[in-house]
Amino acid sequence: MQGLMQDWPLLIHRVIDYAATQHGNREVVSRSVEGPIHRTNYKAIHQRSKNVAQRLKQDGIVLGDRIATLAWNTWRHLEAWYGITGVGAIYHTINPRLFADQIVWIVNHAQDRIMLTDLTFVPLLESMADRLSSIERYVILTDGAHMPPTKLKNAIAYEDWIANCNGQFAWEQFDEKTAAGLCYTSGTTGNPKGVLYSHRSNVLHSMSLAHADALGIRNSSVVLPVVPLFHANSWSLAFSCPMMGAKMVMPGAKLDGASLHELMESEGVTMAAGVPTVWLGLLAFLQKEKKQLSTTKYMLVGGSACPRALIETFEKDYGLTVVHAWGMTEMSPIGSLGAVKDHLTSLDSEGLIDLKAKQGYAPFGVEMKITNDAGEPLPWDGKTFGRLKVAGFAVTKGYFGLDDAILDEEGFFDTGDVSTIDANGYMQITDRSKDVIKSGGEWISSIELENLAIGHPDVAEAAVIGIAHSKWSERPLLIVVPKEGRTINPAQILSFMEGKIAKWWMPDDVQTIAEIPHTATGKINKLKLREIFANYKLPTDA
Ligand code: ADP
Repeated sequence: MQGLMQDWPLLIHRVIDYAATQHGNREVVSRSVEGPIHRTNYKAIHQRSKNVAQRLKQDGIVLGDRIATLAWNTWRHLEAWYGITGVGAIYHTINPRLFADQIVWIVNHAQDRIMLTDLTFVPLLESMADRLSSIERYVILTDGAHMPPTKLKNAIAYEDWIANCNGQFAWEQFDEKTAAGLCYTSGTTGNPKGVLYSHRSNVLHSMSLAHADALGIRNSSVVLPVVPLFHANSWSLAFSCPMMGAKMVMPGAKLDGASLHELMESEGVTMAAGVPTVWLGLLAFLQKEKKQLSTTKYMLVGGSACPRALIETFEKDYGLTVVHAWGMTEMSPIGSLGAVKDHLTSLDSEGLIDLKAKQGYAPFGVEMKITNDAGEPLPWDGKTFGRLKVAGFAVTKGYFGLDDAILDEEGFFDTGDVSTIDANGYMQITDRSKDVIKSGGEWISSIELENLAIGHPDVAEAAVIGIAHSKWSERPLLIVVPKEGRTINPAQILSFMEGKIAKWWMPDDVQTIAEIPHTATGKINKLKLREIFANYKLPTDA
């Protein structure tokens, strides 16, 4: 027997309809790419997203077409997303930090028809436009007054593009499993792979994450998504904020500590989300300028392992609640968050920071398991490492345009991460499976060594890679960037680490480097580091 409740497909435009109806005057504030602060609200965004939809229809865009966006977080990018999905087309976010060849590959693979982009990226696109054959028109997210002269095909300023639309447009209706968004993983090896989100997966993912023990978004929240819309759905914030009627503060192109601090203070930001590198930048600014955060209470950190010291400093010196999250493009992206479960609140302050340094537990909608190489489940004891596998309503079951089966017999997706899970359900990433250091048949976590090294007062950033060793197969090399004005004493760094990890985990050497290379999503680029140290030989290797 079926229930007798209404069919109410979980479509993304319902989110902006709701925000306009219930929270119409709630503000969306952006640092515009042109410079000045821009203020709008959900009612206006709703209206203008309908203009976008209307214009897309006029341009012949139909269900399933891909529309590329290469753009910063601003109100225009946000309303474009809603307009695109409202005609059943697919927003395809592109990360501008990718190499030109990767961008070309991705656009051609996705067969994007229109490219929406910021002023910032016009020169970049001009340099590759002759290779972007599927793009019929470039829409520059600006107004006529700021429109640069450009040879980009059919280029038009966004404001002119939608100027003749009156918003008299009924959203298209379709199945909730219809594709809504496309995002390629940066693919450090091989070609990038496209993850294709549906309306349903986006709505459920955002709804399940807005609650208090996850993103903690309320109507009274003022949210700063430093994480870009192009970094895996901005971790759901583009949908969960309008769902709750939270005020949004969009940082545009300026993500440095000083610019973020200015926005946080002037707009009364209560919650901010970004990768560790961004928060390291903010912290350096706060410490140097002796500034505080007067309204911010909650910081979400994810995308790569958050150093324990960063959590500790923001919690103790700045009074924030720091929540460490883990996820990946393939998971829409959030897979776990580090809220403190009720029975653990009595831990002492060190114990609480240790807990928060883990990647947290899975929210409703994410199932996890760890297995050995044979696929057999491993215990949740907080010690045993294994391959981390996941299933859920917002986890991918395949890649766009590829037929390969990617799930195991139980329908789980192998994340490529290695982790432990403890008896309380808290997961801790110990490594990417390709970065773990295999020493004498045992595994050493590069992430744990990095987190430890970064606690040393001379160290600004740390990375650990495995170096071939004739006896042990691989041994860890610690690579560090000194803090401004400091020099690195390798013996001192090693003695700082001693006693905090098993003896055989100790790095065999410490090397100093001016800068650690990063990937387009802000992760340590270990592939590049391995190249840099390709001819390096460990002093312990006879
Ligand atoms: P890409 O692979 O395109 O750089 P993703 O953002 O999808 O982008 O990367 C996902 C991977 O990032 C995860 O599989 C994991 O290795 C790493 N990651 C994300 N968040 C964390 C975290 N909090 N701690 C450790 N690793 C993380």
